[in-house]
Amino acid sequence: AGKVEFRDVRFEYKDGTAALQNISFTAKPGETIALVGPTGAGKTTIINLIGRFFEIKSGQILIDNEDIREVDKNSLRSQLGIVLQDAHLFTGTIRENIRYGRLDATDEEVEAAALQANADSFIAKLPHGYDTELTAEGGNVSHGQRQLITIARAILGDPALLILDEATSSVDTLAELQIQEAMKKLLKGRTSFVIAHRLSTIRHANQILFIKDGQIAERGNHEELLARR
Ligand code: ADP
Ligand code: ADP
Repeated sequence: AGKVEFRDVRFEYKDGTAALQNISFTAKPGETIALVGPTGAGKTTIINLIGRFFEIKSGQILIDNEDIREVDKNSLRSQLGIVLQDAHLFTGTIRENIRYGRLDATDEEVEAAALQANADSFIAKLPHGYDTELTAEGGNVSHGQRQLITIARAILGDPALLILDEATSSVDTLAELQIQEAMKKLLKGRTSFVIAHRLSTIRHANQILFIKDGQIAERGNHEELLARR
């Protein structure tokens, strides 16, 4: 499972803005699709359409050959992992924040997800650092750690499909490597649509869709796109 197909999709916002037109592509099960392109190009709109957060004007979106308009929104979204930039962490331990990915997960499952995402070493910390009970564990989490927590949360949810807006905030080299490793585990085996900011993600993507003015201006994998320069 996990094939996603856009057939000549057109989308307009309520104000008539033609945000997307002539969008056609097929993501095979397990592929990573990197969406790149300037701000306002339509990348966020594309990933929102996959979760049916908006209705398209014309064309078709199919998941495993089924038109998503025919699928119940809740069951559509229950198979979809959504990872947004700098996701919100709430009060409570990192463990609880990760568990939010699947509320019925056992402690062992939460810990396994944390380990996969390189977030195990700080799992007992409090993200906001203002609880005095756990001061021995340390306070705030860094930007990089926040990203690892978000990734752990998504790994725990174990979705077949992923829509992901990679964080833009820069982190140190060690954190960068840990995030790349965690991302690799998250993306593996899942059909993923990533608004990509990391070069490593773009390099490893099966397809890169370069979005410009609401259309696919160029496509291919990293090598193909470089060869055309
Ligand atoms: P990107 O993610 O590539 O930066 P978006 O998908 O967010 O681009 O936006 C694509 C276009 O749609 C832009 O012109 C943007 O201004 C417009 N747009 C985005 N959201 C809305 C909205 N809610 N209502 C009207 N226009 C919108
Ligand atoms: P290469 O074989 O080209 O040297 P690697 O496979 O060793 O590349 O990966 C380089 C970095 O990119 C590693 O840190 C790896 O974890 C990360 N990486 C691998 N696959 C992906 C992916 N699909 N998305 C994001 N990062 C990835």
